[in-house]
This record gives sequence, C-alpha cells and structure tokens, in this order.
Amino acid sequence: KLQFSQIGERLSGQSGIVELMDDLGAAMAGGGDMRMLGGGNPAHIPELQQLWRERLSEIVADTTYCDRMLANYDGPAGSPKFREAFATSLRELYGWDVGPENIAVTNGGQTAFFFLFTLLAGEMPNGGFRHVMFPIVPEYIGYADQKLDPRTFRSYRPRIEILENHSFKYRIDFDAIEVTDETAAICVSRPTNPTGNVLTDDEVSRLAGMAASHDIPLIIDNAYGEPYPGAVFEPIAPVWDRNRVMTFSLSKLGLPGTRTGIVLADEQIASRIRAMTGVVGLANNNIGQALVEPLLANGKLRAISQEVILPFYQAKSTAARQWIDQYFADEFPYQVHRSEGAFFLWLWFPELPVSTQELYARLKQRGVLIVPGEYFFFGLNDQEDADWPHRRQCIRLTFSQSEEVVESGIRILADELRRLHG
Ligand code: PLP
Repeated sequence: KLQFSQIGERLSGQSGIVELMDDLGAAMAGGGDMRMLGGGNPAHIPELQQLWRERLSEIVADTTYCDRMLANYDGPAGSPKFREAFATSLRELYGWDVGPENIAVTNGGQTAFFFLFTLLAGEMPNGGFRHVMFPIVPEYIGYADQKLDPRTFRSYRPRIEILENHSFKYRIDFDAIEVTDETAAICVSRPTNPTGNVLTDDEVSRLAGMAASHDIPLIIDNAYGEPYPGAVFEPIAPVWDRNRVMTFSLSKLGLPGTRTGIVLADEQIASRIRAMTGVVGLANNNIGQALVEPLLANGKLRAISQEVILPFYQAKSTAARQWIDQYFADEFPYQVHRSEGAFFLWLWFPELPVSTQELYARLKQRGVLIVPGEYFFFGLNDQEDADWPHRRQCIRLTFSQSEEVVESGIRILADELRRLHG
C-alpha cells in the first residue's frame, strides 16, 4: 500500500511555511478582501515594476539573446556572465576577494538553504552527527521544516532588552551559545525575518570568530540585506571571508517569480551547491539573472536599492508603527521589536490570553492574515524551553502592502486584541 518515507513525511507533512505560502498564494491570487499582513511578498513599487518591464522589453527585442535565454539550459552554477557581474559588484562595493568561482546560483534563497543545511549537517562519515546552530531565535520560518533529521537544528533564546515607548530588541546571548565539534555551521538572517533585528557588526564579528575557531562556516542570509535590496535602516559594514557563506536573493527586489538565489562561499562549498542544483533541478531559472545582469555592472541596481527600496520600506515601517501606537492606545500590554530592516514588525503581547495560533485563526475569520509567532522558535530545547511563555506571545506582521491594507489590518488586530484582553 502507499506509504511515505520518514524523510518524505518530514518534507510533506504539516508545516508552517507551507501554510504561510498557501495563505499568501490564495490572498495574492484572490482579488478578494483578505488583508495580507502575512507572508514576505515584496511590495509592488512602481519604479521597480517599470524597471523590470523595461528590461523584459529589451530582452524580447534582442531575439538571439531572448531565444537563448528561453531555449537553453544554464549550467548548474548559473549563468557565467551573471556570476561574473555579481562577483564584480561585490568586489567593487566592498573590496571582497571574490570571483565567479565563489558564486552558485540556486532556485531561490529557500533552495540555497535546503542545500546548505543538507550539505553540512546530519550523519557524518565518522559516524557522528552535526547540527546547524542558530545563535538566536526567533529566526526565519522557512528554515524550520528543512531539516532531514529531528536533531539538525539547535537554537538559543535571545536576551530581551526592553526599550522605551513599547519597544524591545533581541540580543545574542553570548554566555549561552556554544560551538562544539558537533556544530556544522552557525546561521543567521540579517536583517532577521521575522523580527526586523539587524545583528550589530560586533555581534556578527564575534560569531565569525567562534565559527573560524572551529573551522566551520558562518552562514548569513541577506535576503533583505546588503547590498541588494538593502532594506537595512541603520548603516552596517558587511564583511566576507572564506569562513563565511552569504546568501542573496532577487526576490525582495520585486522578482520572487523568477526564483533566483545566490550563494557566495569558498569555492569548495560553491561548487558543491552547483552539483546539488544539477542533481535536484538540473539548472536554475535564468530569467532573473538575465533581467538583473546589466544593472549590476552599471550600478543601477545599487542605486535603486539605496534611493528607492530603502526609503520605501523605511517609510512603511514608520507608518505601520504609528498605526500600532494609535490603534492599540495603551489598552493592553504590547511591545514592538525595534524595526531595523526587512518588511516586518514583530509584536509581543505579554498577557495574551490565547495562543497566537488562535489569534491567527480569529483574525483570518475577520479578513486579516498575520503569521503566528510559534513557528519561528524552532530548534530550542523542548524540555527546558517548553515553558518559556514568550514563544506563544508574538506575531509577525508585514508592512509591505498598501497603506489601506496595513492600516485597516492593524485596526482590526487592535479590536480583536481588545476583545481578547477584555
Ligand atoms: N531567507 C529569508 C530570511 C526570507 O525571508 C526568505 C523569503 O521570504 C528567503 C530566505 C527565501 O526567499 P527566496 O527563496 O524567494 O529567495
């Protein structure tokens, strides 16, 4: 009879990211009344939409190029021209010693992470087992179900710093985190999805030191980060060296449909990622690479990131925060994580009387999608951390949609919270 393997079950069973993407797909396709404060869809920024339409027209007008793009498979590492252009842009922006041999394109950053986790963690040739260490959770929901073994992820709670005006910030608890011989890699997103936290240069450099002393990689996920799309609201100084793996994505530049992720790593790792693409998917989608490639060399992608994307999301973040303070109006306890980047506000309700799953279900009934916070606390120690109430008191809210959607979503959220706390 039909049966599913253990790994099959793990990859196809109940999953936060699948629920989130189902919700997102339905809301974005629907034209209905759902207020999409859920997934990480980028905003449709008019200047960017126009830029991508113009680039598509240029490609279509160049028949030879267009025919090649559509009718040829790329090599599994990605288009050589794109990889060269991407590496050159990083050399010019940051002075990093990188070339195309350090770059492997993947079908989205999501796939890059599945490959990296699977490549580095799990049963080892010597019979041991290695895990990926997340020095701070909450972390990106999309990693949570990518483990092929229940032991794959090990995470640590943050220190919580309470700030003025209903604000707070998570910090890495360097007294708690531990790299051992069983650690395969350290992994962080920067800015962090879901919290909008941007780890400081000092925190990153300390993590890099811990990784280097064990000769393992520090993986930094720049899906929202520098240099593209650059949704980072406070200046940072990104660093790369051979002990670091960095991932980038074209999605948050307004191109999630092209499924383009980029891994920057030591040649050994980049070449393994290339091979995994060959095995799992033969080659990558090449349309995103074709759209973006000339804009890397002429600096336009950097300029539009800095001049259009960054101010756009920063203004959205500020507006969302103002509506929260206006509609919540001190009627129940709440704290908002400092918004330092990405597309989200992370809200904490210390006296929430129901689970955030329940809050999610109630809000969905009222036409508002948010993401319950529980999903983002994966990899913790189930026994010690089970009683940590904070895990069940947070939600993520996306501010990338229209003013009307975000404001009315926050108004309804406030109303529901008032009833619940009543
Ligand atoms: N990493 C983070 C932190 C994300 O938020 C996302 C998407 O939301 C991804 C990776 C993967 O995105 P994509 O596969 O579209 O590149």
